[in-house]
Amino acid sequence: MKDKGYDVAVGKWTVPPTKRQIMKALKADRYDAMLTILTDQMDKEVLDLAKKQGVQIVANFAVGFNNIDVNHASTQGITVTNTPGHFSDCIAEHTVALIFGLTTRMVEADRFTRSGKYKGWDPMIFTGTDLSGKTLGLIGAGRIGARAAMHLIKGFGMKCAYYDIKQNEALEAELGRENVAFVPTVEQVLRDADIVSLHVPLLPSTTHLMNAERIAMMKKTAYLINTSRGPVIDENALVAALQKGVIAGAGLDVFEFEPKLAKGLAKLENVVLTPHIASARESARTEMALIAARSIIDVFEGRVPECKVTPEMCK
Ligand code: NAD
Repeated sequence: MKDKGYDVAVGKWTVPPTKRQIMKALKADRYDAMLTILTDQMDKEVLDLAKKQGVQIVANFAVGFNNIDVNHASTQGITVTNTPGHFSDCIAEHTVALIFGLTTRMVEADRFTRSGKYKGWDPMIFTGTDLSGKTLGLIGAGRIGARAAMHLIKGFGMKCAYYDIKQNEALEAELGRENVAFVPTVEQVLRDADIVSLHVPLLPSTTHLMNAERIAMMKKTAYLINTSRGPVIDENALVAALQKGVIAGAGLDVFEFEPKLAKGLAKLENVVLTPHIASARESARTEMALIAARSIIDVFEGRVPECKVTPEMCK
């Protein structure tokens, strides 16, 4: 942005700013654009103020856009953009890593080994789970879900059953219909899958998509993986289910009350938890920054940015 001759003001916060802090910063000056991160809550009040201060575009440094009231931004004439680059593979790989963390029990075994509990080879400790021939259940088979399916089918011999509001025929053709099957309901994915992985955007229709009732439909031996957004799972219900052995375990990169964890979650052995780092690669961060900057420049120079988020995408 600076190379293009624009003035750039960067917040000095070391932790994500509160709504009040964002509003205070906005009131202090006029801005033509805002570059936000996924923790910045851009609700009606903040967007109204942003509009008043001259903001034409909110470029979100994230693939998700659930932190922005896109409908309200649209009525205010503020453009919203996100950063869906070519890094779906990093989130897909992180999904695979969470799965391996659980099925090889690597994280549990690491804790055991470090704590000096390893007293000699034992054929019965940390017996894991094979992936080959098992069913991956995808909920959401867009960019990231499709790449996760590709890695797990081609790399580890899994089969995939998926539910999406849109059938992904390109994915079925690429990986073979004998390997990937579209199923008509979320419930069927839950009943069939050995591993359920969530790859939907956070929308009203996907909030608590995994509630107590749906978690109970999963196999007792199944694992639940979430690299999408925390509130897609009712996290308290998940903790209760894990405590009671309703399912075998969970791998989570995102949390409902982020950065807080639901009560009891951190005490469970059968979970692998990472702090929202599925896209934390230098290559991805650089691409996200470039997309966000380009989107802002596009609006300043009168073009429609490629990664514009529309109200239709929020339904
Ligand atoms: P995408 O838009 O390509 O795919 C999302 C898929 O979900 C689409 O195919 C869509 O049809 C489907 N969908 C929407 N509503 C649905 C519903 N109610 N039921 C079933 N399917 C539904 O998005 P993507 O690039 O694959 O990213 C998915 C999500 O992953 C993002 O929205 C973002 O929140 C999250 N994400 C997380 C990280 C991380 O660091 N953990 C990084 C990037 C993205």
